[in-house]
Amino acid sequence: MMLRRLPLLKACVTTPHLFRPRSLIASTPAFSSSKVRRITTTSPGPHRTAIVTGSARGIGKAIALRLARDGYSVTVNDLPSLQSELDTVCAEIHSAYPGVSAYAHAADVTSPDEVSSLVAASVANIGPLTTMVANAGIAQVKPLLDLTPEDFTKMFAVNVQGVHYCYQAAAKQLISQNTPGKLIAAASIVAFKPFGLLGHYSASKWAVRGLSQVYAMELAQHKITVNAYAPGIVDTNMWEVIDEGLVLREGKEKGVKKGDMLRKFSEEKIALGRTSVPEDVANLVGCLASKDADYITGQTMVVDGGIVYT
Ligand code: NAD
Repeated sequence: MMLRRLPLLKACVTTPHLFRPRSLIASTPAFSSSKVRRITTTSPGPHRTAIVTGSARGIGKAIALRLARDGYSVTVNDLPSLQSELDTVCAEIHSAYPGVSAYAHAADVTSPDEVSSLVAASVANIGPLTTMVANAGIAQVKPLLDLTPEDFTKMFAVNVQGVHYCYQAAAKQLISQNTPGKLIAAASIVAFKPFGLLGHYSASKWAVRGLSQVYAMELAQHKITVNAYAPGIVDTNMWEVIDEGLVLREGKEKGVKKGDMLRKFSEEKIALGRTSVPEDVANLVGCLASKDADYITGQTMVVDGGIVYT
């Protein structure tokens, strides 16, 4: 009798107690019923897939490459006008990480139907969903008193409704799969401390922070975590747009040229003394998408080299 039990007990030494038969846990003194810790996971099994919106370039592209490096199969998304850039990102993933699946699907995140189709196509092409990164966003430099209704509506359609549609479609997919998962979105440091002349952009990113908190509350029961990342000043197309806008509105008379505002902000505001690169942000998202973040939800995490201290 003793001899027959031995192999079973030996096997349990190297197996995490989560995977031990319940009867064995209950009969082991160290795991008496009052001491059993029920550890739930918000990470799925080994095959992980992610959708990254707005990933034809900039931060989204760096996130797609980072997740592919971490073994994720990735669906990259952007507007149809950037289809060839999306195809290039897929080719880069295939060549850098052979064996990793990458699939390009153009869609506009302001359309709930297109976002639902994006999720369905991703599942059909690379497998059940694990992680949604709602990264797509736009910026505009304009004083609040000059904003038209269209300016405001467009900003919120992409930056807030776009995130909501991505979270909603991805959550419905995860619930139908009955698997845990992770939803992640792009906020910004302006979700903590707004920039002048970026009023409606700042408000949209505060909204992403609030939306992510409520999604986290409502989806925890499904073992889905929801977090946002808040970059600072990242040298991408978007900062070129912001730089141009600031130069146009603030710098003309002072002889300020293109690129000067980015340099000035980086030198004066960033404690670590350099402008951020997209990979700085991708490193945080890689962490938020990993098992290490299983117990983190409802947070907006700053990655800015030391501008805003939360
Ligand atoms: P980017 O302009 O280089 O990339 C944004 C991408 O989103 C573009 O490829 C664009 O085509 C895509 N996009 C825009 N509207 C879309 C839509 N309706 N549907 C699908 N795709 C759409 O900008 P980025 O700097 O890489 O920014 C990525 C995210 O990070 C954005 O949400 C941005 O607000 C946020 N962010 C950027 C900075 C920064 O300094 N660059 C700072 C804080 C936050």
